[in-house]
Amino acid sequence: MVIADEVGRLLDRIEVDRALWTDGSMPSTTPLTGEQIAMVQVADAAAIDEALGKAAAAFRAWRNVPAPRRGELVRLLGEELRASKDDLARLVTIEAGKVPSEGAGEVQEMIDICDFAVGLSRQLYGLTIATERPGHRMMEVWHPLGVVGVISAFNFPVAVWAWNAAIALVCGNSVVWKPSEKTPLTALAVQAIFDRAAARFGDAPQGLAQLLIGGPEAGEALVDDRRVALVSATGSTRMGRSVAPRLAARFARAILELGGNNGAIVAPSADLDLALRGVAFGAMGTAGQRCTTTRRLFVHDSIYEGFVARLKAAYGSVAVGNPLESAVLVGPLIDRAAFEMMQQALAAAKAAGGVILGGERIGEGASFYVKPALVEMPGQVGPVLEETFAPILYVMRYYDLDAVMAQHNDVAAGLSSAIFTTDVREAERFLAASDCGIANVNLGTSGAEIGGAFGGEKETGGGRESGSDSWRQYMRRATNTVNYSDALPLAQGVSFDLP
Ligand code: NAD
Repeated sequence: MVIADEVGRLLDRIEVDRALWTDGSMPSTTPLTGEQIAMVQVADAAAIDEALGKAAAAFRAWRNVPAPRRGELVRLLGEELRASKDDLARLVTIEAGKVPSEGAGEVQEMIDICDFAVGLSRQLYGLTIATERPGHRMMEVWHPLGVVGVISAFNFPVAVWAWNAAIALVCGNSVVWKPSEKTPLTALAVQAIFDRAAARFGDAPQGLAQLLIGGPEAGEALVDDRRVALVSATGSTRMGRSVAPRLAARFARAILELGGNNGAIVAPSADLDLALRGVAFGAMGTAGQRCTTTRRLFVHDSIYEGFVARLKAAYGSVAVGNPLESAVLVGPLIDRAAFEMMQQALAAAKAAGGVILGGERIGEGASFYVKPALVEMPGQVGPVLEETFAPILYVMRYYDLDAVMAQHNDVAAGLSSAIFTTDVREAERFLAASDCGIANVNLGTSGAEIGGAFGGEKETGGGRESGSDSWRQYMRRATNTVNYSDALPLAQGVSFDLP
């Protein structure tokens, strides 16, 4: 009840309409205690249809607004996020279970991507291209794309929307967001914050950025609707396997940000203090519930015993618990299902010869706190080959860099990777060999910056969002050729001389 009261105060301060989270049919719970904190209204098929109609109309108006002016809306969004940062971060802690510094970090990421997108709104550059025909000019021009659907996962309940929406909006698109059904309150808060920015902006079209609360069926409605030009879907590979063929069937664009099974290598020359911190945060931070969490660790034989002993000591001393009650580094798992999957993976690891430290549940009741698990494995077999969305680190010994790179790449996912080494040759060989979308030297697999393009290869889906030139996926490219001569030379020297 105490947490529910605090949630009420936070939502009131962010000015979320009370009816949206008190009068609904979908219970919302906090993983901190398992208690119910709200009853949220769900979008039915008619509401989804209406929202998509509004989004399509909003797009038709918004695409004509000059891009730097569109950037002004995103600048105001960044200002509103700054003003509500503490409240929104606290809600992230309550609804997703993140420790306070990670909750605050997630909102900071939203603010940072707004800044990035504002600058981008004056830099949506196309190329001018040399033409083979005299008296001609050829160029490419980027145009707004349409309605962008965003489907997001529970573990980044607000940042993923911002990565997509800030960029999509400056590119001239409208946005419809289907957040995780496990985190509807943070989504309602973000929508209220956006609405405030839009009100200050003045003449933003109605329905420019909308929210659809619901489960997978609401996501499917976005995926299957021809009015949605691009779906950016973040979640499990299982979800991607359903979404990708449906989008392909109607030739819609997809940005898929799916599961990871991220590996880190500790080489003989590594700065072991730095490696210890990088691996510990990568593997235990966010209770192992990041797509970039370190799940596989390869330690060179020559340093294995000493390094793994220090890592075990870190696992033994890390503080786990309710982040509202004490200064902890590891909060709860999201729900019972996550706990059960963790226990299944540990049982399978044991059956495959793994030696387990940790993994036990702490406390009881409706919340699920666990000691992070470190599992020494004889090889990369069984559950090591898959992502289990929980704090399990599989540790393996290696002897040779080429052999361990082959092993590192021999999993289905391809999101993030890291090596700890002070040997520049080894670092470069790793960067060339890693098949992931993210490859780091002397930092962990977890925690990317918004300036880079984020995403991974293989079963991680191949999508890229956030920084660099990811914006191009939110626009359509037209190649324009203008003939300012009085002749009509054909390309490739083709002649078509009429008699
Ligand atoms: P999930 O796949 O269960 O759900 C993600 C979202 O997809 C939710 O909004 C859900 O309602 C929706 N969804 C589920 N099935 C759908 C379907 N058939 N059609 C349309 N929508 C559907 O994932 P989760 O448990 O919320 O999040 C954890 C997973 O997300 C992990 O696998 C993690 O690695 C991944 N993740 C990836 C990234 C990335 O950027 N690569 C980021 C965060 C999380």
